[in-house]
Amino acid sequence: MRIGVPKEIKNHEYRVGLTPASVRELTLAGHEVMVQADAGAAIGMLDHDYVSAGASIAPDAEAVFEYAQMIIKVKEPQLPECEMLKPGQILYTYLHLAADAAQTKALMQSGAICLAYETITGPGGGLPLLAPMSEIAGRMSIQAAATHLEKVRGGKGVLLGGVPGVPAGHVVILGAGVVGTNALQMAVGLQARVTVIDKNLERLRYLDTLYGNRMTTLYSTTPAIEDAVKSADVVIGAVLLPGAAAPKLVTHDMVRQMQPGSVLVDVAIDQGGCFETSHPTTHAEPTYVIDEVVHYCVANMPGAVARTSTLALNNATLPHALALANKGWQAAMQCDEHLRRGLNVCQGKVTYRAVAESLGLPY
Ligand code: NAD
Repeated sequence: MRIGVPKEIKNHEYRVGLTPASVRELTLAGHEVMVQADAGAAIGMLDHDYVSAGASIAPDAEAVFEYAQMIIKVKEPQLPECEMLKPGQILYTYLHLAADAAQTKALMQSGAICLAYETITGPGGGLPLLAPMSEIAGRMSIQAAATHLEKVRGGKGVLLGGVPGVPAGHVVILGAGVVGTNALQMAVGLQARVTVIDKNLERLRYLDTLYGNRMTTLYSTTPAIEDAVKSADVVIGAVLLPGAAAPKLVTHDMVRQMQPGSVLVDVAIDQGGCFETSHPTTHAEPTYVIDEVVHYCVANMPGAVARTSTLALNNATLPHALALANKGWQAAMQCDEHLRRGLNVCQGKVTYRAVAESLGLPY
């Protein structure tokens, strides 16, 4: 199959659809890959690395879209990219269509076969092509919190791990899923004092077997959250109700009761956030202050570590890319129900129920 990798054009997007190593795997399997010039240059994946891996380099996106039977990207296609898609061409990328009527219509008009990373399921449940980004955001959340606790960044001037003779900082993590568990790992690694709060007792039991007395687990109730947040130096918001807005677990009143210079990191901001006082921020201006509490609410945290994110994403996307290229999209989906769930738009029709329902389109 002929596979094309355009350079991402969304503002401040430095990730790339395929790494040179993934290109090598695809060319070794007998496929041809064309990569747009400088597609990975910003993260140290250079054109000559792609050429060494067996790819050819195209001068522009038009050449890639013209050549390829399958386009592999990271972000949802922007409208100029949708216009370049051709009937029968496979598009394999993040799409997030449920809230994006314009993109959905453009993809329907293209006649392309559009697979969304975020709706492909895994044999053990969950969404394995979203998980790497949650792992990264969870790990970054503690890094962001530690930095913003510093006095020059508006924080209270506390070192998360403390030092001998001085208490460690207190990190409260709301939600013990992928983000929360990765935040926990980093916080424990820094020797912070950690409290993890979740409604899922099985999850808390599991973490207890891993971390024992190196952290405290609490069942999620309003009083438990109220108490924990009051004494926290850092609160990480990592809850998710699948398909719904994040619950506002921390009210403005609770924020008022926190100590000045404490830091809130609302990772769940992409679902509306779980602090009443949250609103989305960007890497250019990641924080704002309300009632002397620093809020970090970046909606696209993994974008800041684009190299790590690209490598982690490729680990999850490559097996399906190989299956699609080796078998063709119909046969690949026939033998893999999880991949089939990735199909969102196919040759003019919306094929994913939740997207059709949320946009009022036929399914
Ligand atoms: P997940 O499903 O793995 O975990 C969510 C956890 O929240 C679950 O353990 C669930 O039991 C818990 N939860 C639900 N309701 C709760 C409540 N009332 N009290 C306490 N816990 C509750 O989800 P995840 O992959 O960890 O993602 C968490 C959030 O982070 C999502 O909104 C996701 O979209 C977001 N995210 C944001 C970024 C970013 O850049 N900002 C990146 C990746 C993920």
